[in-house]
Amino acid sequence: MAADLERSIVERLDGVDLRYTTGRRAIVEGLGRAKGPVTLPELLALVPELAQSSAYRNLALMEEAGVVRRLVHGNDHARYELAEALTDHHHHLICESCGVVRDVRLDARVERTLDKTFDEVAAAEGFTVGRHAIDVYGLCADCNT
Ligand SMILES: [Zn+2]
Ligand SMILES: [Zn+2]
Repeated sequence: MAADLERSIVERLDGVDLRYTTGRRAIVEGLGRAKGPVTLPELLALVPELAQSSAYRNLALMEEAGVVRRLVHGNDHARYELAEALTDHHHHLICESCGVVRDVRLDARVERTLDKTFDEVAAAEGFTVGRHAIDVYGLCADCNT
């Protein structure tokens, strides 16, 4: 894992008086290896040495610390990924049949257009934009066949 990512994680955990324990490191590495946001059972399958109870608790603590982002789409189980501030800005493709979620990156030019558009519609309502999140729903390759 990149040293600067590691340093950012340690700083964030330190900010809420948490140590970067072996268990937390294993979670971060599992999330880093996943192809997209994962449910707790998927994370446990990726990192078999994790115990379910401590993994769940550590995910919640790391969410508070800003290391992990928790996503909830409809009735699906919560999914977890590394916080965008630690990785990069992206969007999600969500399968409405099986619930799988994939990360997608848009062209920088498209993101600038989106930001400009959101700034305009928000300003009309007296809002200031902090960030945007866009989810795209449909069927994944497996469910589409
Ligand atoms: Zn699917
Ligand atoms: Zn975006």
